[in-house]
Amino acid sequence: MKSYRKELWFNTPTRVAFINITPQVEEAVRESGVKEGLVLVNAMHITASVFINDDESGLHQDFKDWLEKLAPHEPVSQYRHNVGEDNADAHLKRQIMGREVVVAITDGRLDLGPWEQIFYGEFDGRRRKRVLVKVIGE
Ligand code: ZN
Repeated sequence: MKSYRKELWFNTPTRVAFINITPQVEEAVRESGVKEGLVLVNAMHITASVFINDDESGLHQDFKDWLEKLAPHEPVSQYRHNVGEDNADAHLKRQIMGREVVVAITDGRLDLGPWEQIFYGEFDGRRRKRVLVKVIGE
C-alpha cells in the first residue's frame, strides 16, 4: 500500500473565508501515484473546517449568514471561552461545518458527485493555518 502526506497552507485576508481546494487535493492525489484508494483532507486547526458542497457564491453567503445567526462573533463577551481571546464563535462554526472529508480515489481521480467540491472553511483567519492531505491506496 502506498501512502502520501501533504500540507496545504492558508493565510486568508478575512476572518471568515471559504476556499475551493479541490484542485490542490487532486494535485496531491496525482503526486501520490495512488490509483485506487482514499484521501483524507482535514483542517489542522480547531477554528477551521474542511467540507464538501456546491461551489456557488449565493450558497456560500447563505452558509456565512446562517453560521453568524447560530454563533454571532459579536459581542465577544457573550462566550465563556473568550477570556483573553475572541474566537469562541469560530470554534462553534468549525464544529458545525466539520473537521474533515474522506473522498474515494478511482482510476487516479477524485470520485466526487457531479456538484461536489472540497472547501477549506476559515472562521478565524488572518494568520497562517494548514490542512492535512493524506492519501492511501495502491
Ligand atoms: Zn479559542
